[in-house]
Amino acid sequence: MTKPSYKDFDATELFCPKCRRAVPVRKRLLLVLSEGDKYDYSCVYCGTSVGDKLVKENINSKILIR
Ligand SMILES: [Zn+2]
Repeated sequence: MTKPSYKDFDATELFCPKCRRAVPVRKRLLLVLSEGDKYDYSCVYCGTSVGDKLVKENINSKILIR
């Protein structure tokens, strides 16, 4: 019933299409959405965005109406 909680992968390296290799990335808060915070990962060398991630807020921090 319980999935193993999806560990927040702190991506250390992602593939950059421009550098054509796995590169260290910079994490940047892009958007704050109602369902979570959106982070953007960009290549430290050329700044190309290589991925993004939606970090969902802890459900306990939300007000739940039952
Ligand atoms: Zn790059």
